[in-house]
Amino acid sequence: MLSSRLKNVTPSVTVAISSKVKEMKSNRINVINLSIGEPDFTIPEKAKEYGKKSLDDNKTKYDLVAGILELREAICEKLNKENEISYTPDQIVLSSGAKNSITNTILAVTDPGDEILLPLPYWVSYSEIIKITNAIPIEVPTKKENNFKVTKSDLAKVVTDKTKMIVITNPSNPTGAVYTRDELMEIAEFCLEKGIYIIADEIYEKIRFNDSFVSIASLSENIKNITITINGFAKSVAMTGMRLGYTASNTEIAKAMSTIQSHIVSHPSLTSQYIGLGALRECEEDMNHMVQTYKKRCELITKRLDKIKNISYVEPSGAFYIFIDLSKVKEKYKYKNSFSVEFCQNFLEEEKVAVVPGEAFGIDEYIRISYACHEDEFLEGINRLEKYINKFI
Ligand code: PMP
Ligand code: GLU
Repeated sequence: MLSSRLKNVTPSVTVAISSKVKEMKSNRINVINLSIGEPDFTIPEKAKEYGKKSLDDNKTKYDLVAGILELREAICEKLNKENEISYTPDQIVLSSGAKNSITNTILAVTDPGDEILLPLPYWVSYSEIIKITNAIPIEVPTKKENNFKVTKSDLAKVVTDKTKMIVITNPSNPTGAVYTRDELMEIAEFCLEKGIYIIADEIYEKIRFNDSFVSIASLSENIKNITITINGFAKSVAMTGMRLGYTASNTEIAKAMSTIQSHIVSHPSLTSQYIGLGALRECEEDMNHMVQTYKKRCELITKRLDKIKNISYVEPSGAFYIFIDLSKVKEKYKYKNSFSVEFCQNFLEEEKVAVVPGEAFGIDEYIRISYACHEDEFLEGINRLEKYINKFI
């Protein structure tokens, strides 16, 4: 008999689709993979050198739970310079990926039965991590006219005396929307007033197409105190498989997370930490190059999507996703339970293109496309999408 904490927890849809694509590819089926959000770049060479050297220097033993001091110092420097937030190394906890950081945060701050607000649409793993920790995910409806960015009035409708936290993903996965300073200030002040912690998931922070990006924790000292910033190296330095993420928070929460981590994983891989250190110290140019490439791809893909009738999408300002509204297709499409799940399954089988159903993010009329791949691949994927949609409209 399994633990009741797993009731209603489903495996990650994004990871499952990507695994299915890998299986199809190993069976020599030529699939276009626009599903998982995984950069097609490789880790910059200078960063790799740090990892190689750390092995040569035999940095392979148990080390500090919160992560090596040099890396926590480099993260503080980055947060100070780029995000205008001042932290000390004892407020930074490195973990095995941002997923691990999010889990540590929720374990450190919530009790069973506490409610965590998830503005719709939300990244697939939040709800499932929350359920695993015995907290309760509460979906917060948002408006398409506002690019699905949550507002104070959306929050006021769902807050209860059990509300403990909210997750703000900025830039957003799956929409790519980016919040303005005023929008963030309104949300953060509301959270302060109600005593709600903020998980500020800023893992896509580097991948944005306009200059303006504001970190929630930079808004004021009081707001910083209730905010746990999540970040990592998977997206910004194409280090998905190295599993390295971190939190920046007040000292009390950081200590609690270290206690949890000391029992569960000790600390993330030292080799990964040294590669992360190299990335922060030496690879700004490489990261800028990746961002410029995503920006060009975003222009290409949106220009192409604009030519397709009967669909629309949320205008992306960052990350590498497009969230496409297929409600007009849904009206004509025959499905049994979930439109987006069945649409994506059939699209994969018939046209050999993998995309993620909107249902994984809480909104069924949509699909998500990742353009973290070569333009030939996503443009061909969009050609096939147009052809497939036209069968039904
Ligand atoms: N947050 C968001 C919004 C994500 O899209 C992802 C997926 N990578 C993560 C966190 C988890 O990142 P990591 O691979 O570092 O666990
Ligand atoms: N976060 C990425 C995505 O949304 C990677 C897969 C995952 O961890 O969910 O596709």
